[in-house]
This record gives sequence, C-alpha cells and structure tokens, in this order.
Amino acid sequence: SESNGSGVESSFVKIPQIKFTKLFINGEFVESLSGKTFETIDPRTGEVIAKISEGDKEDVDLAVKAARQAFDHGPWPRLPGSERRKIMLKFADLIDKNVEEIAALDTIDGGKLYSLAKALEIPGAAEHLRYCAGAADKIHGDTLKMSRELQAYTLHEPIGVVGHIIPWNSPSYMFAMKVGPALAAGCTMLVKPAEQTPLSALYYAHLAKLAGIPDGVLNVVTGYGRTAGAAITSHMDIDKVSFTGSTEVGRLVMQAAALSNLKPVSLELGGKSPFIVFDDADIDKIASLALQGAFINKGEVCVAGSRVFVQQGIYDKFLIKLVEKAKSWVVGDPFDPNVHQGPQVDKNQYERVLKFIEIGKKEGATLLTGGGKLSNRNGYYIEPTIFSDVSDDMTIAKEEIFGPIMSVLKFKTVEEVIKRANATKYGLAAGIMTNDLNIANRVSRSIRAGVIWINCFLDFDIDLPFGGYKMSGFGKEMGMESLNMYLHVKSVATPIYDSPW
Ligand code: NAD
Repeated sequence: SESNGSGVESSFVKIPQIKFTKLFINGEFVESLSGKTFETIDPRTGEVIAKISEGDKEDVDLAVKAARQAFDHGPWPRLPGSERRKIMLKFADLIDKNVEEIAALDTIDGGKLYSLAKALEIPGAAEHLRYCAGAADKIHGDTLKMSRELQAYTLHEPIGVVGHIIPWNSPSYMFAMKVGPALAAGCTMLVKPAEQTPLSALYYAHLAKLAGIPDGVLNVVTGYGRTAGAAITSHMDIDKVSFTGSTEVGRLVMQAAALSNLKPVSLELGGKSPFIVFDDADIDKIASLALQGAFINKGEVCVAGSRVFVQQGIYDKFLIKLVEKAKSWVVGDPFDPNVHQGPQVDKNQYERVLKFIEIGKKEGATLLTGGGKLSNRNGYYIEPTIFSDVSDDMTIAKEEIFGPIMSVLKFKTVEEVIKRANATKYGLAAGIMTNDLNIANRVSRSIRAGVIWINCFLDFDIDLPFGGYKMSGFGKEMGMESLNMYLHVKSVATPIYDSPW
C-alpha cells in the first residue's frame, strides 16, 4: 500500500501529497491571520489527513477586500465575455488533466467513491465550467418598447462580490455549480468549503490561478461555519450569498443577510424526496433505481429518494426484490472498485445516522436489512438499511437523515400518494415510477418539488435547472437559469425627441 507521507494510505491507488493547506487570498496561499489550523480527517480510518489554515472574520475581511478591488478596478468584470470564456475553458481543461489527483482528495476527505468521483463528479465539474464559459459571451439584456417618446433597454450586470458557502457531500460539483455561473457573469468571489472537505477547493484555487483567472477574483477561505461562514453572511461588502447546506443554517444565512446589508441570498437546502412506485412499474429495474436513489454517496445526497412509496399491489414483491438487491450492495474502502458505498463523512454524521436507525426501530418500523454500523471496519461505515411499514408520522419518514437509510411506505391510490408525498416541509425532488402517462403527468404537476424524475432518478444534467420548493430553499442552480443568480438587471430609459411616431 502507498502512503502520502502523513499515514493516509490505500492499497488501490497512490494517495497524492497534500499540496495546498492554506487560505487562497488575492492569488496567493497564505496562513490565517490567527495562525490557527484545523484537522481534516479521513473517514475511512478517523486519521488526520492534514492541518488546514482556519480562516475567521479577519481573513474573510481580507478576501472580501481583494474581491472588491478585483470587482471595482480589476479586469475580470470588464473583459469581453469571450475572454472570460477562454480562461474558464482553460480552468476546465486543467481540472480534467488532474482528475485522478482531485478524485483522490475528495475520496480521502469525504469518503466518496473514487471511481464515481473520477468518472463522473470531477469531469462533471469541469464540464459545468465549460457550459458556463459558453454563456459568458451571451449575456445580454432586452430592448424594450416603451411609450412613444421613450426608448429603453436592460443591461445585465454582474451582481458584484459573491460569497459561496458549500457543503461536504459533493465538494467538487458544488464548487463548479457555484463558481461557474458567477465567473461567467463577471463576478468576483470567495468560497468557503465545508470544514470536513476543504482539500479540493484549495486545489481548484491553484488551478484557477494557473488558468489565468486574475488575482482577487476567486478566493478560498477554509474554516468553520459559525466563524468564517457567519462572517460571510453578515458582511456589509458582500453583494450576494449562495449557500448549500442544512435548512437550519439556511435560516441563519437569511437572518444574517437581513440584519446586515440585505444582500440577496440563494439557498439549496435539505430534502426528504418521495420515490413513488406504481403497480405497473418494472419491479426489477425500479428496485435497482430505488436502491441507488437512497444509498448512492452513502445517502449523503440532498435529493436522496429516502421515502419510497410503493403501491399495495406490488408492495410485497417489491420489498423482496429490494432486500435481495441490498444484499449485494457492497460497503467498504471507497478506493476499491468493487465497493458501492464508503464511510459517512465524519464522526458526527455517522453518529447522527446511527441514532436515526435506533429511532426507526423504537418507533416500530420493520427493519428489513442493515440496521447498524459495519462491524468489521474501524471507519465511519454504516450498513445500507431498509425499513418497511413506515408510517407518515414516524421520525424516519419526516426528518432528513443524510445516510444510507430507506423508509418504505405503502399506498393505495393516486390521490392518496400525492397528498402524502407533499406532506413534508421539503420540496427538492420526486421520482415517479409508472408507464401510465396520465398518472405520470398528473403526479408531476401535483408534487411541489423542484425536480421531477419519471422512470429515472438522480439524472442531473448541466442543462437542467435545479433548486427547491418550500423549505428546500430557493434559487436555481445549473442550466442557463443559474446565471440569473449572479446578474443584476439594470433598466436604461432615454427620451427620443422629435419622435416620428
Ligand atoms: P451545514 O449547513 O452545517 O453546513 C454547510 C456549510 O455551511 C458548511 O460550509 C458550513 O461550514 C457552513 N455553515 C455552518 N454554520 C454556518 C453559519 N452559522 N453561517 C454560515 N455558514 C455556516 O450542514 P452540515 O451540518 O454539514 O450537515 C447537516 C445537514 O445539512 C445534513 O444532514 C443535511 O440535512 C444537510 N445538507 C444538505 C446538503 C444539500 O446539498 N442540500 C448538503 C450538505 C448537508
């Protein structure tokens, strides 16, 4: 097995040296002003990977100063879109060139499957930057027809200095989802990655500089949410905050924005997405999809199909199939190509998920498979767990668990399942499994959620706007809609004298 020098090892791939551990401000890696650091942990073992500079309010101030200077006086917002496009394309190419190293960083930092990070998430992040790069020279306003003596048009201007706060479950994709459209729009920014997974964001900062993104345009401040994160949300000189994370913190973000400079915020929060299986569904195919939908990325997915509603006609058969398939869902070292599920991101999440499993048992759900930690490993590994006979009022049917726990609920009619699927404070996504067009159409229009997948699930696409309803947040990421989050619309009106009309 190969070591990276700090004791972090894998028998499957060479673990890279950790090259970047400091804050990235104004084009340079610098220590935090306090000199403090925090440890980032390998969830496969609980071992320390590296000590990372711990940014706080005064470091955020420095990063904002750099971003403000770059916005008010630097070239980035003033470059023709085609020039921003070229630099962003170069950034994307550099990500592709370093895909193995970045995938390894995300795997040791967050327990993600290396094969998926390498084949999907990190190439997806690069592709997302390319999509946004292609939009950079196509940002324009409208010509408006006003009264007889006035003509008017709109200018779409970059919103200014942006603070991005990102979670740990998909550090690379989240980074690109936020940074891509903001860069294309001509904004300058700081990114605060989650304290659990800071490594890839710092690596991206390095690549951004290599690609030619001017100093001060993209800053990365690593640190904790209650300090560095809170300093961003309450900052008087940040023009917009884009946040992804928990609903509880989302509330704090809005509050801080309201109490400071009323900066607009966009929130991508939690979910408890229904995955609805109707009697006519292909049991074998849909059981596989349900499993993926609930357990992929160890259930640390905001859109996870964690409430699986199954119509009564196929309920029993479907459960048998689910359990059969769950038996071949392999948990283990995320570097192992035969493994489907790695460890939970950290000790907190691990313990939180185990607690929910106990609550499920106590509240009377039937434990079909799994139900605890993996006994033959030290890291934060949890068995894929399926509960059936779950009722709507049970905690595991209501709370977002963010772990490999599936709750199966039985239903009879279309009206009933619409009502029950909507009986949640969340509204991020929903899956509808049926070949009956009428049912599919009816249910898609009736579910209050931002993304509806019919006979598929988790099918993200760069061109597909993504964002929540209700307490899952607001604002659309991905798709051309994502640019609007980083643009101001300015109206310009001017009289026409001696109008010929
Ligand atoms: P969190 O909301 O605490 O953390 C997300 C980000 O916000 C991190 O960068 C964190 O440092 C920062 N943050 C924390 N407190 C802050 C504050 N007061 N001000 C500003 N920023 C702050 O999420 P978590 O505790 O890491 O995860 C808990 C739950 O969040 C999960 O169980 C899940 O429900 C949800 N979650 C959702 C998503 C999603 O994609 N929608 C992603 C991750 C987590």
